[in-house]
Amino acid sequence: MIKPTRARAGGPRSLRTCGECRACCVVLGFEARPDEASFAKPAGEACRHLGPTGCSIYPERPPVCRRFRCAWLQEQSLPASLRPDRCGVMFAMNDSVLGPGFAVYAYELHAGAADRPRVARVIRQVAAEAPVILVRAGGRREVLTADPAVVARVAGGEST
Ligand code: SF4
Ligand code: SF4
Repeated sequence: MIKPTRARAGGPRSLRTCGECRACCVVLGFEARPDEASFAKPAGEACRHLGPTGCSIYPERPPVCRRFRCAWLQEQSLPASLRPDRCGVMFAMNDSVLGPGFAVYAYELHAGAADRPRVARVIRQVAAEAPVILVRAGGRREVLTADPAVVARVAGGEST
């Protein structure tokens, strides 16, 4: 189960490894902190450093990349089948842009991946506990929550 907890930047190391997954190097936007060497990668497109066998600068990859761990990498209880490249959706726990509290982001790697029954069931389970921001493969966002105030805020134009 994915719980709506804060992503732990620099927290305890996960026992898991990314394996062949490269999802975050494509779907996420990364930007260095002001006190770090300049680095920016736009969301929704493959990083320029991403090669056929993974990150071509892996030993020297930027700190912002080192800090990020998706929900699957953090949560040992999640099944191997939910690794993003396997299930087609990358879950990430983050501060909510919707207001106080947290949201769970679900980034679709391929159109329709979030609608596959197994993944859709996970998304529904998470949405019962916290707002889920589903980012479709084309960039469209859907907010899944039972809280009408959250829906209204999103309709009002808030974005990440
Ligand atoms: S999406 Fe998760 S498992 Fe995949 S490369 Fe990124 S951190 Fe690793
Ligand atoms: S620098 Fe490497 S780890 Fe960071 S987004 Fe690019 S390919 Fe991924």
